[in-house]
Amino acid sequence: MCKIGIDIGGTSVKGILVEGNNIIKTASSPTNAKSGRKGIETAMFSVIEQLMCEGVSLIGVSSAGNINPYTGVCVYATDNLPEWTDYPIKTSVEAKFKIPCVADNDAICALKAEIANYNDCQNAVMITFGTGIGGAVLSGGKIIRGKNFDGGRLGHMILVPDGKKCNCGKTGCAEAYLSCTALNYEGKKLIPSLSGVKGLFRLYESGNQNAVMVLKRFSFYLNIFLDNVRTAYAPEVIILGGGLSKDKEILLSLIDNKSDITFAKFGNNAGALGSLIKLY
Ligand SMILES: [Zn+2]
Repeated sequence: MCKIGIDIGGTSVKGILVEGNNIIKTASSPTNAKSGRKGIETAMFSVIEQLMCEGVSLIGVSSAGNINPYTGVCVYATDNLPEWTDYPIKTSVEAKFKIPCVADNDAICALKAEIANYNDCQNAVMITFGTGIGGAVLSGGKIIRGKNFDGGRLGHMILVPDGKKCNCGKTGCAEAYLSCTALNYEGKKLIPSLSGVKGLFRLYESGNQNAVMVLKRFSFYLNIFLDNVRTAYAPEVIILGGGLSKDKEILLSLIDNKSDITFAKFGNNAGALGSLIKLY
């Protein structure tokens, strides 16, 4: 029995065909976000069509934005996915393909995929460091959803009162200090030739004083952020994912309390895999 998992992000739609526990085929397409709802839907349908085969029993969709997992509607999405707010993911996919569909938020999907690795883990936090900071929380075996399906968006906890402006409209959010975007911005101020966070990490390794300064500041904020997360949720594990987490050694060296820190195992496929796990 096969299942299709889809992950909709701001730049690409990725998909996997799963048989049992094995990924047997992958596909992807640019999101076409600039074309709004129609463009994103076309990309999603195209990836599903590329993976479709006899006997697919379920289509899971992991999407950025606040998703109602019971109705499969995107309740709210930022401008990363224009016109995606109010889009009925589940009913649209079911109408087109005549196969049952489930949909959920991408950070929550990643959390669901990752915690399947841990024996009987009831309390966990997933943090993804990418263009933004994604967050999802499992507490007492249940996903924290919040009243508008916007609970657990940890990237928008305020870290610095009256601090830097965030994409969400607030100031001083963790995302404005800890995302790859923020780190790259700070790095470029001191090292104008810098190309991305990877480059910053390499300079840090070689002892470049400017890179050390930028990452010391990052470390200061990261440790406050992680401490706030522990205070709020007392998780058994904090799982770090996203682009930044690929440099595990360096990221870990910047964290004071490493006792509960682990790294995501599924990388790019976590969202698509987790979309197929029904956990409310
Ligand atoms: Zn924010």
